[in-house]
Amino acid sequence: MTTPVPRPAIAAVPAYRPGRPAVSDELKLSSNELPFAPLPGVLAAATQLLGRMNRYPDAGCTALYEALAETFEVETDQLAAGTGSVDVLYRAIAAFAGPGDEVVLPWRSFEAYPLAIAVSGATAVPVPLRADATHDVDAMLAAVTERTKVVLVCTPNNPTGPVLTSAELDRILAGVPSHVLVVVDEAYVEFVRDPLAASGLAALRTHPNVLVLRTFSKAHGLAGLRVGYGIGNRDVVESVRVAVPFGVTDVAQVAAIASLGETDAMRRRVETVVAERDRVAAALRAAGWQVPVSEANFVWLPVGEQALAVAARCEPVSVRPFAGEGVRVTIGDPSANDLVIEALRDPA
Ligand SMILES: *Cc1c(COP(=O)(O)O)cnc(C)c1O
Repeated sequence: MTTPVPRPAIAAVPAYRPGRPAVSDELKLSSNELPFAPLPGVLAAATQLLGRMNRYPDAGCTALYEALAETFEVETDQLAAGTGSVDVLYRAIAAFAGPGDEVVLPWRSFEAYPLAIAVSGATAVPVPLRADATHDVDAMLAAVTERTKVVLVCTPNNPTGPVLTSAELDRILAGVPSHVLVVVDEAYVEFVRDPLAASGLAALRTHPNVLVLRTFSKAHGLAGLRVGYGIGNRDVVESVRVAVPFGVTDVAQVAAIASLGETDAMRRRVETVVAERDRVAAALRAAGWQVPVSEANFVWLPVGEQALAVAARCEPVSVRPFAGEGVRVTIGDPSANDLVIEALRDPA
């Protein structure tokens, strides 16, 4: 008896293999989560909604879009929410690229990109980062062809840390035809301190082919609730809103709104993470490690073939090795960060 045959692109996607579970939440520096409880009022708002779980959520995310529109000074029809910005990413790629089309992306970058491209049926065109772990803008522009439908940029880049500068984003937007969607993934934008860093929202004002991706998973510390969003031109957004209905729960929507209302508290917390990031990076550099400038809540050790060995040295702290490439260490509580600094006192 035969079984249904998936499309080749789907068959080629490797099955998800969970990593070994972390010893504890405090020692889990492998997923770029925030080490804090939700911001004030968020838990209460979410808890109140739990009693209504017999009801469907607002599929139109009305109140969430109003809160986001006010925060970012955009119109509500410029917003597309999803179950994490990864969901919005999948939908954006699938909306604009399919079999025979190409998606240009930086690499090494976010692991979800090749998966999202594979699911769409389009062909991924990965462009290696430069030696300093930044996007190779010239090579990315050279990779754009008549078949290119989407260009992805990740700023700051996960897992390596550097931002795209506004001059670099300008060059990408000037060099890419206006019918190509340029996705600017800003999952870590709240942690950026470089004044030369690109702003996806500023780029959107002059380039309607830009889609900015943001999330509540990182700086807002709501990774488990699954809520992220895209900001773009209303025509682009209309296509990206095509989704499985009712994905973003009421609990996630009210928690996100409550968290947006605590922006000052969020910024203060992010400031402590930024200070820790700079402390960890400086300590590792002083110990002899090469650490690219990070503008996110993690640091990258480009140790190549030693990635797995370096990750093993960090135990019992869980960090994220990328075999053959390097190790990403999320900034956690100072005590957990200290364990990593101590474990890596001697360079590889
Ligand atoms: C964490 C992350 C996201 C956001 O993921 P969610 O689905 O919103 O949790 C998006 N892009 C990058 C590069 C990330 O690292």
